Amino acid sequence: MIPGARVELLRIGALTIAVAIVGELSKAWGIAILAGAIVWVFPHVREFDHFRRWSRHPIGRPDNAAELWQEPTVKVFRALRQSRTRVRRMLTRLRYVRAATEALPDGAILITSDGEIEMFNAAAQRLFGLAAGDIGQNFVSLTRNPEIAALVDGQVPDKLVEITANRADMQLEIRRIDIDETRLLILARDVTQLNRLLTMRQDFVANVSHELRTPLTVILGYLESIEDDTLEPAQTRRLIERLRSPAKRMKVLVDDLLLLTRLESSPKPSQTEVDVVAVAPMLEAIAAEARQLSNGRHRITVEADATLKLRGSEFELHSAFSNLIGNAVRYSPDGGDIAVRWFATEAGAHFEVEDHGMGIAGQHLSRITERFYRVDLSGSRARGGTGLGLAIVKHVLIRHGATLGVRSELNQGSVFFCDFPHRTSR
Ligand code: ADP
Repeated sequence: MIPGARVELLRIGALTIAVAIVGELSKAWGIAILAGAIVWVFPHVREFDHFRRWSRHPIGRPDNAAELWQEPTVKVFRALRQSRTRVRRMLTRLRYVRAATEALPDGAILITSDGEIEMFNAAAQRLFGLAAGDIGQNFVSLTRNPEIAALVDGQVPDKLVEITANRADMQLEIRRIDIDETRLLILARDVTQLNRLLTMRQDFVANVSHELRTPLTVILGYLESIEDDTLEPAQTRRLIERLRSPAKRMKVLVDDLLLLTRLESSPKPSQTEVDVVAVAPMLEAIAAEARQLSNGRHRITVEADATLKLRGSEFELHSAFSNLIGNAVRYSPDGGDIAVRWFATEAGAHFEVEDHGMGIAGQHLSRITERFYRVDLSGSRARGGTGLGLAIVKHVLIRHGATLGVRSELNQGSVFFCDFPHRTSR
């Protein structure tokens, strides 16, 4: 039974009896019935009024006193409370979705199929220079780019275009995602860095192939000559001897490439894995090799603090220092003095090599550590350079928390220096 129905039935029963008695006694049946109806209706009008007032601001429970009214009004109240909780939960989720969209590194713009902007995130704002007031504007008219216009218009079969953004140094990959009949999502990704890397990789492969092809062509040329049956054995031996230099050149190049790849791809050695390197004897040994290479054409001096040691990879440091000393020999004319120094200051340990050779013009200084960058390509090749030496030095130093610096003046000479902060050990 509906709660409160019994009380209501009792009330109706009591009222009917009262109306019957009053009607019988007074014979005024009409007035008695009217009075009975008013008495029956009045509490319901009051309950309805309570409900009406509550419905204007339905936050707390409705304050209906009659049990018959309480059940339906409380049901309405509970349904409202549940839907309010649901809405609140949905809003929280929506806020998360919004925050996630805002945090996306890619630009996201929701537009209608006519191109009208409905929503965009912070990245889209940055990539396309949009402002809050652009909501409702036409995306195609705002961007004024024919490729974007074709994409929005559905004329691009794979729904993807690459454009140069308003800032000319930025390339954007723009993708169209159809959400439904009336809405599109435009996703924009900054691919400048990626494109640069791809170009660098292509350049690198082209450079390596070119560097290897030159000595290979020389080797093939000699081999053809050797095949000539009319050659004297002494002539053949001389030709075979000549094969050694380009073959050696290829080996040096491949070794440098392998070392550079290893330096770039292997993790930095941890403090516990590193050696305590006695730099002074290492520099003496490198200088001795360089003197041999120079064949007495240069005067190479070493001033090294024998007590100053360095924590790091002995192999990598040897490679960096010998590259720098080798360059000083390679790019100095005969008779040039070369000074190698290893010393400590408050800032840490320092290696430097000073030559009085050809020097480097200012405009090249920022690029000489790039792979295969040479100030004078044929000059470097003729001197046996691979174009990878300073790239190797740079990577070794990065792995040791150190920096490479150059002071150089054209035709005066150069000082290459490496600063190692806080890596020393006495
Ligand atoms: P390479 O194998 O050609 O020597 P590096 O990476 O060692 O390649 O050096 C890059 C370029 O920097 C060289 O080709 C040369 O032009 C210039 N360079 C390096 N060291 C010196 C130096 N000590 N004096 C003058 N030029 C130098």
